[in-house]
Amino acid sequence: MSQPTPTPLAGAQQEVAELLSDLIRIDTTNTGDTATSAGERAAAEWVAGKLDEVGISSVIHESEPGRASLVARIEGTHRDRPALLVHGHLDVVPADPSEWSVHPFSGEQRDGYVWGRGAVDMKDMDAMTLALVRDWARTGVKPDRDIVLAFVADEEAGGRKGAHYLVDHHADLFEGCTEAISEVGGFSITVRDDLRLYLVQTA
Ligand SMILES: [Zn+2]
Repeated sequence: MSQPTPTPLAGAQQEVAELLSDLIRIDTTNTGDTATSAGERAAAEWVAGKLDEVGISSVIHESEPGRASLVARIEGTHRDRPALLVHGHLDVVPADPSEWSVHPFSGEQRDGYVWGRGAVDMKDMDAMTLALVRDWARTGVKPDRDIVLAFVADEEAGGRKGAHYLVDHHADLFEGCTEAISEVGGFSITVRDDLRLYLVQTA
């Protein structure tokens, strides 16, 4: 009898919700003012830890104290091919708990959903990306080309202290990247009961 085929990405599916909950619990509110924005450093260190666990090394760069972004490169099999950048931001817009039925930084899992600030913008994709590359590392999957991962600060207030800073001061981290993937073509659109569209936007 042949062995049952393992479900692709089963490991990633199992841990993605927990990763998302954990990341939501790290309050990375970005007010636009560093004095009242915190948490990106803690979030970047948490990401570094999750990558470390599976042997993926990363670097953290700060534009200002606490305004931390993380970059990692996963080597592909064909290193002569251009690299693909997959990036997400770690910060979230402010949330007033009094306006929420679930605490915005609880990361609570209820009714089959993960709740909290960042659950759709965009700690969800951060968690999915992390779960995927952790699964790759555990199962020995090597991507076809280099994958550069960037988890950046300050996207919600213009990106000067995150993506812009990395490009201005550490452009070498993105050497060879010819395409990038991130959020968000648009939220899903329900056309009718049996048809929901997920848009892809290119630029
Ligand atoms: Zn976003």
